[in-house]
Amino acid sequence: MSQQPFPEIIDVRKFFSQGVLLKASLPLQSCKRLEPYLSNAEGFIKSKIDVNLAFNKDDEGRYILDGEIESTLFLPCQRCMLGIEHALSSEFSVQVLDELKVSGDRELAADELEVVLSFEGKLDLLALVEDELILSLPLVIYHDKLDCNPKLVSIQQSARQALDSKPFADLEVLKQQLLSAKGETE
Ligand SMILES: [Zn+2]
Repeated sequence: MSQQPFPEIIDVRKFFSQGVLLKASLPLQSCKRLEPYLSNAEGFIKSKIDVNLAFNKDDEGRYILDGEIESTLFLPCQRCMLGIEHALSSEFSVQVLDELKVSGDRELAADELEVVLSFEGKLDLLALVEDELILSLPLVIYHDKLDCNPKLVSIQQSARQALDSKPFADLEVLKQQLLSAKGETE
């Protein structure tokens, strides 16, 4: 199947009734939820997220979305903050339930599946995939020591040491400057 454009908001009934199979790349410029997790400009330009999504109805007419995510993300190294290329795959299955039906019809929900709500027949598909991806992200990620940017690391270390040894040094200088300035105006 060739790549299709990613539909950010979908008509739920249409997609599940037709049993749509979707193979697409996420439009990164629209991924506002994911953006803060990526390493700056580089991460935003070079990351790539492909999805395979299958929209099906089960025997009881429930809307079940099965998804596979294949991504290459550039995440910030927690030591030097530069990007690390990180391959991340994830699979998920969710039941899509209309918000209006939730309170009245509890038995509609399949127990074992995570439920995602649609609203007035529309589902924010982009947000759903982004959320699934964010849940799969590693908590922290580092370069191997050799790949870490040594300059940045040493600047950070000396800044930290300076702060540890004399946290109020700058304040003291500032105070002296203020005092002498005051003396000049009096
Ligand atoms: Zn690093």
